[in-house]
Amino acid sequence: MRRVTIYDSMSRSVRVFAPIQPPRVGLFVCGLTPYDAAHIGHARTFVFFDVVARALSRWGYRVFSVQNVTNLDDKILDRAAADDEDPLALAERHFLAWRLSAERLGIRSVNYFPHATDYTAEIVAQIQTLVDRGYAYASAGSVYYSLARFPAYGALSGQRTEALRPGARLEVDPAKRAPEDFVIWKSATPGEPTWESPWGPGRPGWHIEDTAITLRLFGPRYDLHGGGLDLIFPHHECEIALAESTTGESPLVNYWMHGGLLNMGGEKMSKSLGNVYLLDDALDEFGPMVLRFFYLNAHYRGPLDFTRGTSLPEARAAYARLSLPAERIAELLERDGSDRPGEPVPEDLAAKSDDLVERLDTTLADDFSTREAIALLFGWTDELAGRLDRLAELSGDALATLRAPYDWGEETLGLFVRVPTGRAGAWAAIVPVALAARERARARGDYAEADRIRDALGAAGITLEDGAGGTRWEFTRPE
Ligand SMILES: [Zn+2]
Repeated sequence: MRRVTIYDSMSRSVRVFAPIQPPRVGLFVCGLTPYDAAHIGHARTFVFFDVVARALSRWGYRVFSVQNVTNLDDKILDRAAADDEDPLALAERHFLAWRLSAERLGIRSVNYFPHATDYTAEIVAQIQTLVDRGYAYASAGSVYYSLARFPAYGALSGQRTEALRPGARLEVDPAKRAPEDFVIWKSATPGEPTWESPWGPGRPGWHIEDTAITLRLFGPRYDLHGGGLDLIFPHHECEIALAESTTGESPLVNYWMHGGLLNMGGEKMSKSLGNVYLLDDALDEFGPMVLRFFYLNAHYRGPLDFTRGTSLPEARAAYARLSLPAERIAELLERDGSDRPGEPVPEDLAAKSDDLVERLDTTLADDFSTREAIALLFGWTDELAGRLDRLAELSGDALATLRAPYDWGEETLGLFVRVPTGRAGAWAAIVPVALAARERARARGDYAEADRIRDALGAAGITLEDGAGGTRWEFTRPE
């Protein structure tokens, strides 16, 4: 297993990663509250943690990656009431839409998406433990966590209670003993989905869902917890309080990782602010590679500014430049197969390729510095830029050697995946059909027809080369 360092939000320092039971790694990332379509701000966090899971797997760790689904909460209930839809059905519809978008984005590292409502038995049992241990109290059919009982509250965020935040408005709830206490079981409201409990029918509060899930899946302590920066307070503080006062064990999480937010117009992209760009719209317009490149070409802990009309077109141009040699190599190998004959790779380049892959691993293992890794890949693209015309002379083995840094980028960053979209995708589908028609024409002696097909392809920038092994084709004009 490779040595990995991680910036841990709790200690506010970069620490060497040491899992509790190596090589196993438990990773929990706070997932979506699916009450509406996902936007590109959500996806930034999830693409980053996809890279964390991919990279750790590459380095020999066995990652179990969990992303919860908060499939019942106030926002879902409000939306369902407004649309006259069943709240759980509405949440599942948006969750499945998110899964499809995540697939398109190449997020395939999540092993399990637990739904909060599938864990109500665990949640009720945990609340009972908290009540028994004096950390929580029932009042008017709800159950509240007593913040004063957990002095360590605030260690992660540096904030003590919501009540101390300047300008924070806490609803006056006469059922609470103290204004900073938070609800972990909500008494039933007519018309809402409810579950039975010792305190009467109701539903879980948000914070306790995640701890009931991780206690069940990972036990009282686990390795990595991720999420957006905006979840540190109060959500992650509450998770720590709930889990540690349930089990008596500490710390709940060994490494807390928080991703920066996506800003639009200087503000966090959020539905409540109304400044959203939907993920599916971005995928339709720019494709998954451009989006992943946009997210990963920035440090994950910093904010990322998104400007409509410039950010993604710029990312598209930069990614096209970065991936050009990878595209060329892939086209040659796809056309001729990996055993294509040709010249060996120049020795200096072979050594550089090997060194670069090692440097890429080292760089990414330093707190997942995706931007620095991409900078190294740009260096490789520059190295190959002057040799693009001669790539066609190289053997399959030689091309594979030159492709190795891009293969690394595919495995860890999820970049350089050839998604059949746009003109290149269309041609890759059409040209073999045209070539087969041309073969049939020649077989029956209709050389005029064969030439017409050849000329039509030539007019579109595709040249053909007839050889002993069949006809090869190549783009002679760049996209
Ligand atoms: Zn959470």
